[in-house]
Amino acid sequence: MLELNDVVTTKKPHPCGGDKWLVVRVGADYKLKCLKCGHIVLLDSNAVKKAVKKIDKNRE
Ligand SMILES: [Zn+2]
Repeated sequence: MLELNDVVTTKKPHPCGGDKWLVVRVGADYKLKCLKCGHIVLLDSNAVKKAVKKIDKNRE
C-alpha cells in the first residue's frame, strides 16, 4: 500500500491536467498533493485504491 513520499498516478487527472500526486500523509485517510498545481486532496483508503493507477516508490 501507499507510503509517505510515494508518487502515484491517478486514473482521472486533476482538473489542472496533472495526474501525478505525492503522498504527504498516510493512515486512515490519505493526503495526496498534486505535483502540478500543489492542490491537496484527502481520500480514505477505499477511494485511494479506486483512484490510483500506478505507484512509484520514491525512497531517498
Ligand atoms: Zn492539480
